[in-house]
Amino acid sequence: MDHFLYKNGTLHAEGVAIADIAAAVGTPFYVYSTATLTRHYSLFTEALAPLPHMVCFAIKSLSNVAVLKTLGNLGAGMDVVSGGEYLRAKAAGVPGDRIVFSGVGKTRDEMRLAMTGGIRQFNVESEPEMRALSEVAVSLGVTAPIAVRVNPDVDAKTHEKIATGKKENKFGIPIARASEVYAEAARLPGLKIVGIDVHIGSQLTELEPFEQAYLKVADLTRRLRSEGHTITRLDLGGGLGIPYTRSNEAPPLPTDYGALIKRTVGDLGCEIEIEPGRLISGNAGLLVASVVYVKNGEGRDFLILDAAMNDLVRPSMYGAHHDIVPVAEPPVAAPTQEFDVVGPVCETGDTFAKGRDLPLVAEGDLVAFRSAGAYGAVMASEYNTRPLIPEVLVNGDQFAVIRARPSFDEILNRDSIPAWL
Ligand SMILES: *Cc1c(COP(=O)(O)O)cnc(C)c1O
Repeated sequence: MDHFLYKNGTLHAEGVAIADIAAAVGTPFYVYSTATLTRHYSLFTEALAPLPHMVCFAIKSLSNVAVLKTLGNLGAGMDVVSGGEYLRAKAAGVPGDRIVFSGVGKTRDEMRLAMTGGIRQFNVESEPEMRALSEVAVSLGVTAPIAVRVNPDVDAKTHEKIATGKKENKFGIPIARASEVYAEAARLPGLKIVGIDVHIGSQLTELEPFEQAYLKVADLTRRLRSEGHTITRLDLGGGLGIPYTRSNEAPPLPTDYGALIKRTVGDLGCEIEIEPGRLISGNAGLLVASVVYVKNGEGRDFLILDAAMNDLVRPSMYGAHHDIVPVAEPPVAAPTQEFDVVGPVCETGDTFAKGRDLPLVAEGDLVAFRSAGAYGAVMASEYNTRPLIPEVLVNGDQFAVIRARPSFDEILNRDSIPAWL
């Protein structure tokens, strides 16, 4: 459920007409709904209650500081995967003890940054990383709380690029070697074991892979405890999928997911952390674009937009589907036409949809991509020297630009010409 509905014949974000935002900031742009972000965060906290828990928003899905502050003000923790994301969480006012640091390649500089600024825990993904973390902690005279990310070798049944819990993936340590690795962690100075971490992938549309993984984590918790380790926290990762089409998809609800967590690990007396990204941010955002041209080709018609693959890469990178709707509400039973929806970038891969049935639209009309809040703006680039597009946050009947479109001067001034030229 989201808060992007037609009212008075035109698409709104909460109480604000999309067309009014377009008039103010120009197209293309991203727009996010505070009410949707809030609702999705609350669904998770309600689903996990009364277990002690922390919902750590996976910043990588949508990292604008205003969005982080919106969630942080509700009490959300943050899951970061780089020093930059750590600084974003801090800039949003989230205290270090609510920030979890994940990722396979944390550098010593990033470790220092987080240890100095405060951290809830590092999710360690390998033995070399664990040793580096120990060295850095000792050099700073601090103790780093850690969970080791285990790879449970389960098939998440999702797109291969975002499956992370199979043994051939680069993530975590094989669960079969966990005893060994925890024993070393216990010996290393500067580290304090607090828990176990697992994350098996993204856009999971079934609960069964979570169940398999969490049952393995429950067994491991008992085993590690019997080996003398203190396990007080389980970080169960993110990955719950969202519906990308309005019609036929029905991924599991946070309530079912919460019930599954209680069933599999609820009796261990652990504090539960989860790291949802997409389910909080995905349906909280639209990408809004204008139709530049309607081009009639041979046997197919192209809708050429002012948004492109550099603004929203998911269709060309993952073959992902986004519903595309006109901002002006089409009349009931309005005629439709099949279009290939494309951007202006000089690559055939710059295609958002092929043979998509859309209500008739004309040059200058506004269209909106639904479910574009997650892995949209954060994956954008300036390919073809197209400026990063603005981000707008709506709250009730107000809106604000939360990242402005850079000018071409700003873009060009980032390049510099060496003295020999
Ligand atoms: C990407 C990622 C997440 C978030 O995944 P979603 O599918 O957006 O919920 C959580 N934890 C880790 C470690 C990740 O890499």
